[in-house]
Amino acid sequence: MKVAAWCGLIGCLIGSGLSLAQPFQLPTANRALFEACGEERFFVGTAGRPWTSGEFGCVRSGGQQFHEGLDIRCVQRDRKGESIDPVNASAAGTVAYINRKPGLSNYGNYIVLRHSVDGFEVYTLYAHLSEVRSGLKAGDRVSAGERIGTLGRTSNTRQAISKDRAHLHYEINLVVNDRYAQWHQKHLTGMRNDHGNFNGRNLLGIDPEALFREQARLGKGFDFGAFVRAQPVLARVVVRDASLIWAKRYPALVQRNPVAEREGVAGYELGLAFNGLPVRVTPRAASELKGSSRVQILEVNAAELQRRPCGKLVFKRGQSWTLQARGNDLIDLLFY
Ligand SMILES: [Zn+2]
Repeated sequence: MKVAAWCGLIGCLIGSGLSLAQPFQLPTANRALFEACGEERFFVGTAGRPWTSGEFGCVRSGGQQFHEGLDIRCVQRDRKGESIDPVNASAAGTVAYINRKPGLSNYGNYIVLRHSVDGFEVYTLYAHLSEVRSGLKAGDRVSAGERIGTLGRTSNTRQAISKDRAHLHYEINLVVNDRYAQWHQKHLTGMRNDHGNFNGRNLLGIDPEALFREQARLGKGFDFGAFVRAQPVLARVVVRDASLIWAKRYPALVQRNPVAEREGVAGYELGLAFNGLPVRVTPRAASELKGSSRVQILEVNAAELQRRPCGKLVFKRGQSWTLQARGNDLIDLLFY
């Protein structure tokens, strides 16, 4: 009872404007995430599965399949039972990309917004919309909480999203490389890329649920960079290449190294989260790099790999760790 009252109070505080000090707002009117035992009313699971399969992470196919966002349940329906919840920008920003051809993506109609948060270029993505607000186009500015579309169930998957499972698929992402489209053309020849730099391979997600909870816990003390740096590292990889785009894009994730500052940067050590997100990077001098191979796996956190096995970054061959195809692609793209 006490817990419920306490959670209810937090919900009220969040709804009352204290959230203005925090970078991200919930994208729909569904606030159940902050209510005691509200998860079941906040998340939509996959057909026949519990609500946890609507969370971010290794939540599908027995932990082997990655769900890169939150599936947020609708709370408003019309007389025919179709969802009509307004979908709102979760922070001020600009429209980066709109897909209004649902047949082109398993995300259906979707919109991507670009934000600047604590010095980070961050992207939020809103998918399965029944419609993107008419007139909205790439480059337009939107304010926090502004309506950008309507919650729906569009998708190009063979099995349609049923009426009762209508939801907003919501992501918070960092973008790997602005030259993704060129990289794709060169490396994935013959594979269609309808979405330019906003192809899923170029977006690395962070857990919005964990972020919302951390914001609620820390209030004004929340710092986006600190949140990213605190994510568990699954693999430490060193790459003999000084042209790490990520280090330029996200300097707040770069750790200082006096040796490299003195001798010059010859490569980078990357601390990769389970999904490949480089959460900490350290420049390395030539004198610190051992062996001659371009990429070396220094360490794999076996407990984290067991907990979150769906990233498909590394596997063990005999006694040593090797990058999987996805890991190789990611490293390649990070230095392209
Ligand atoms: Zn989803």
